Amino acid sequence: MEKIEMNRVILIKYGELTTKKDNRKIFINTLYNNINNKLKGLAFYIEKDLSRMYIEFRDEDLNEILERINKIFGIYSYTVAYKIESDITSIEENILNILPSTNFKTFKVETKRSDKRFPIESLDVSKRIGGLILKNKKDIKVDVHHPETIFHIEIRNDYTYIYFNEYKGIGGYPVGTQGLGLLMLSGGIDSPVAGYLAMKRGINIGCVYFEAIPHTSLEAREKVINLSKKLLNYQNNLNLYIVPFTKLQEEIYKKCDPSYMITIMRRMMYRIMDKLVKKYHAHVIINGECIGQVASQTLTSMAVINSVTNLPVIRPVACLDKLEIIDIAEKIDTFNISTLPYEDCCTVFVPKHPVINPKMDKAILEENKIDYETLINEIIDNINIMKISNNEEFNDLI
Ligand code: ATP
Ligand code: MG
Repeated sequence: MEKIEMNRVILIKYGELTTKKDNRKIFINTLYNNINNKLKGLAFYIEKDLSRMYIEFRDEDLNEILERINKIFGIYSYTVAYKIESDITSIEENILNILPSTNFKTFKVETKRSDKRFPIESLDVSKRIGGLILKNKKDIKVDVHHPETIFHIEIRNDYTYIYFNEYKGIGGYPVGTQGLGLLMLSGGIDSPVAGYLAMKRGINIGCVYFEAIPHTSLEAREKVINLSKKLLNYQNNLNLYIVPFTKLQEEIYKKCDPSYMITIMRRMMYRIMDKLVKKYHAHVIINGECIGQVASQTLTSMAVINSVTNLPVIRPVACLDKLEIIDIAEKIDTFNISTLPYEDCCTVFVPKHPVINPKMDKAILEENKIDYETLINEIIDNINIMKISNNEEFNDLI
């Protein structure tokens, strides 16, 4: 038989978002834009409908595209499919062409016919193609319950798609479908993971780093910049807000009861976060607090710290074990950066005996020893904004 030129596409299934009926269009359009952005610099063409996206590509780019697709939230699964004419002869010819490159002992054929104009019913297509496969490959048999390979045949309006191996995407909602949240990003292990998990639910994030130069080094800042770049793998662009925290922190250090230093410092961070969220039209604060991990993360501490803001505070890793957090940190490639030795501002000012169950009255009494409103306003006026972007990387690729 003459070799047919087979046109392949990457077929993408949305999964979870198709259950959100009202928002479906927004989800699909956001995902479409996110994929377009992520694939910048490559030659490709995307077609979308309500249940699938199809990406046409150049063969030599396939691996690169699949690697990038693995970092896009909102993709439930994907596969490389053969895109062919919707007629039975063409389906048969293509199946015969694909067969030599396959390796299996048991199989079944599953046909979906969304184009009802196609004259043969799904079950009959499956039977006919199954028969063809049996006739043309040795030592194989049909197993409808646990087949090694499933030949999917999707007969849609314009074209038919044939595929067998399906891969799981990273799931979640497309980043941007839930608006903006500000992530408190320290140089530690937990907060980048918190940012990743928040993005997974569709939140677009901006990162906020509190620094206390000269008590913290520029290397510590560099570390946070590098962590932001890792998070940028999942989002098109991202702002890093660098908060000059030194003066306020020194005041706390000088004037407040040492055992309450951390509680008060964190109340100040939350106050600044509250103002930043409002200033930059975000909706929530996100951080890497984890219940019980340190003195400031007991439930009583959290309550005293949280009481300075009415905003929702999302703590994606609150209920994870450290090892579970580390697993994710390794997966998103932040672990090795996070474990570099440079101190962030919290560790520099750690008291010997931080209070584990702080009292609200005492926290207020202690913090009133400093003129924090003035200091906070000064801080807000002096924030440094860095635009972290992927463009350099894309320029390299063009
Ligand atoms: P991480 O591993 O993320 O540093 P941690 O276990 O060290 O967390 P803390 O230092 O108590 O915990 O901080 C709890 C959370 O507060 C961090 O996960 C982060 O979201 C936020 N945070 C702490 N320090 C800073 C900072 N210097 N800048 C921005 N956010 C911070
Ligand atoms: Mg930390």
